[in-house]
Amino acid sequence: MINFLGIGSAFNTQLGNNSAYIKKEKYFILFDCGSTVFGRLRSLNLIDDVSELYIIITHTHPDHIGSLGELVFYSYYIKNLRPKILFPDKNLIDVILGSMGVRTNFYEVLSSVDTVIKNNDFNMEVSFRKCSHVDSIPSYGVLFKLDGSTLYYSGDSNSISNFVLEGLEKGSIDFLYQDTCGIDYSENPHFYLGRLAKLIKPELRHKVYCMHIDPEFNRDEALELGFNVVEAVK
Ligand SMILES: [Zn+2]
Ligand SMILES: [Zn+2]
Repeated sequence: MINFLGIGSAFNTQLGNNSAYIKKEKYFILFDCGSTVFGRLRSLNLIDDVSELYIIITHTHPDHIGSLGELVFYSYYIKNLRPKILFPDKNLIDVILGSMGVRTNFYEVLSSVDTVIKNNDFNMEVSFRKCSHVDSIPSYGVLFKLDGSTLYYSGDSNSISNFVLEGLEKGSIDFLYQDTCGIDYSENPHFYLGRLAKLIKPELRHKVYCMHIDPEFNRDEALELGFNVVEAVK
C-alpha cells in the first residue's frame, strides 16, 4: 500500500531516514520528512508532477523532520504549492519551521487528531494516536485509511497498543508498519524484534512490516519469524 524512501533508524543513515509515501496522480502523501528525505524526493523526481502535498509527521526528531524546512521552501518557491502538514501540535511545527525562516503562510498545519480528506480522487482518513517513545517530545502513531485499506504506522514507539493488536486480530487494520530494532535494553525507545515475536501471533505476522531498522536488526531472523521487512524504492 505504501512505498518507502528510507527504512533506517536515526544513525543507520546508509538505509536513509525512515519515511514512506503514497503517490496518487497529482496527490502526494508523505509519512515523515527526516534529514535524508528531501534529497531522495528530488533525486527520484517524485514530486515533479505533484500539485497537492500532504506531510504526516509522527514526531519532531531530526530523522523525522530534518528536511521539512527544505521541502516546504521547495514546495512554495518552486512548485507554487502550500503543503498541508498533519501534526497535532501546530505551535511546535510553527516554532521549528519559524526558526528556519519558513513563514507560516508557506504551509498549512492540519492539527486535528482526526482528519478526513475527501475529494473526487481519493478518500483519506488520518488519526493520530499518542505513543510511547521518549519523554522530551510528543510522539504519535497514525491510523491511516485510504480507499478502503487501513494501516497503522507506528512512528517511533517502544510499545504496541491493544487497539492495534485487536485491529490486526479482527481485521480492522490490514497492515502494521512497526518501528523494530535489533538491540534490546531497558528504556529502549524502539521496539525490539524479540518482543514483536512474543506479542504477534504467527498467523498475523504476514500483516506486520518492520521498519526504522537499526544496524543490529537481523533481517533474515525477522523474515524467518514470518514478518515482512520494508524495502526502500531504488
Ligand atoms: Zn526515528
Ligand atoms: Zn524518534
